[in-house]
Amino acid sequence: MKEIIYAENITKIYGDKNKLKVLHNVNLTVNEGDFICIMGPSGSGKSTLLNILSTVDSPSTGKIKINDKDVYDMTEAHIARLRYENIGFVFQEFNLIDSLTIRENIGVPLVLANIEKSEIKKKTEDISKKLDIFETLDKFPAECSGGQRQRAASARALITAPKIIVADEPTGNLDTTNSHQLLKIFQKRNEDDGIAILMVTHDSMIASYAKKLVFLRDGKIDEVLERGNLTQREFFYKIIDITSKETQNMFDKMG
Ligand code: ADP
Ligand code: MG
Repeated sequence: MKEIIYAENITKIYGDKNKLKVLHNVNLTVNEGDFICIMGPSGSGKSTLLNILSTVDSPSTGKIKINDKDVYDMTEAHIARLRYENIGFVFQEFNLIDSLTIRENIGVPLVLANIEKSEIKKKTEDISKKLDIFETLDKFPAECSGGQRQRAASARALITAPKIIVADEPTGNLDTTNSHQLLKIFQKRNEDDGIAILMVTHDSMIASYAKKLVFLRDGKIDEVLERGNLTQREFFYKIIDITSKETQNMFDKMG
């Protein structure tokens, strides 16, 4: 399996005077075709880790390789290019540009790369059909539902044919139906195109779409769970068991 992201011994310390160590010696590899979900209590370092793995932020110590290339010592321009060629981002807040239509929003990465207009049109229409937003192409974000906006943001992330989608709480602003629709889309792109998915969520049911769960506690990888041959439902119950550990401990203390 081809390695897309390789992270070795990652630590992150915030602050100069009052140092806050947020990540402790984290090791993680994302291969082609992986579908990994990172979970953990609020403040456990999930977003920090995701930002470091996707080269948006840099670690205090440790090594990051994207596509077998060590990003240490690379210029910011070089890293930006590596990121553009390999990673598609999806955020909780969608981050669409309000003054552009959905079609224009989806095409932004290709416009920035000076791709020819006719090719942008074709790619935008192809991807929008796959994400069930073809009818919204000439609308503005404000005229679309939350689910449609998040699928448009996902289309924008997918249009460059990235090797990996990195998504921080992508369903955080969606209702249940739209959350599941989005995850089914991620799952299909993962299965059909081999696009790796690296996602953070606090929703165990959403996490159950992944093939692997990485659980962070206090900036350390506390547990790793492979779905293997489990059904989604069986995997969900295992996830609940891990995510409810803090609550279970509290019950134990209450006696
Ligand atoms: P999570 O996504 O799991 O909720 P974060 O990675 O956002 O956690 O944050 C982990 C810890 O790092 C938290 O205690 C948070 O307050 C702190 N933190 C996050 N970003 C910064 C920053 N830019 N400066 C200082 N502290 C930060
Ligand atoms: Mg976060």
